Amino acid sequence: MENIQYDGHVHTPFCPHGSNAPLEEYIDKAITLGYRSISFCEHAPLPARFPDPTPEKDSSMLSSDLEAYIKAIQDVRERYKNDISILTGLEIDFIEGFETETKAFLDEYGPVLDDAILSVHFINTKNAYGLLDYSAENFEALSKQAGGADQLVRRYYETVLLSISADLGKYKPRRLGHVSLVRKFRKAFDLPSDEHWLEAILAAAKKAELSLDINGAGVVKPLCGEPYPPAAIIEKAERMGIPLMYGSDAHHPDGLGQGRERLPEVKLGMPGG
Ligand SMILES: [Zn+2]
Ligand SMILES: [Zn+2]
Repeated sequence: MENIQYDGHVHTPFCPHGSNAPLEEYIDKAITLGYRSISFCEHAPLPARFPDPTPEKDSSMLSSDLEAYIKAIQDVRERYKNDISILTGLEIDFIEGFETETKAFLDEYGPVLDDAILSVHFINTKNAYGLLDYSAENFEALSKQAGGADQLVRRYYETVLLSISADLGKYKPRRLGHVSLVRKFRKAFDLPSDEHWLEAILAAAKKAELSLDINGAGVVKPLCGEPYPPAAIIEKAERMGIPLMYGSDAHHPDGLGQGRERLPEVKLGMPGG
């Protein structure tokens, strides 16, 4: 898939687990790739009472950085407006049990955003939260906590379905991030078939009029080797008329464009057409 014109999922130096490369490097790379538009979608600050389960507590940007983040994107948006259209976005975590906080956050910041992605990274199993995509070792531990990989896969997709039906207010993100993230370490584990879950997600997304992040990051993850979601699901989504938008999920300028070569030939759009 080479004729991509929009990347809807780009991280920034505000990401504590990403790189310090400046916004300008991402933008220059996007222009080199011939894009007309990109969305910076940094991990939004987690709800204050949510304990980040990662050892370094670095899953999202700091709440104290949020204003500076928005200002920085607005600054480059203005400076580059003749070269590329830049959208101010956030990747919002859907965390089961924290819907009220998430809605309050969106009510406050939604008005200044041009774009947003709703993603599931944290899974509640037996009343403890774990980060799904941290490492294969962590995935194994999380599976044990859930009562097996089957249970973890089930909990992941149940949570994605909850994210689709959740009332997060009028600024709820209209695009679902990497809806098969549970497959990130699939080659190291004996995961159950999840096609029926992905089909249920497509049906729910269609009904809720949400679009999908067609995420290239999985392609370059050695234990995944496929986009999120897998090609057959992307093609099915297209047949159903669900809007699809490419996302590199780049955490470094070199990651822009990643995974494009392994996407099926489908029509990829951008917010607003
Ligand atoms: Zn990240
Ligand atoms: Zn993500």
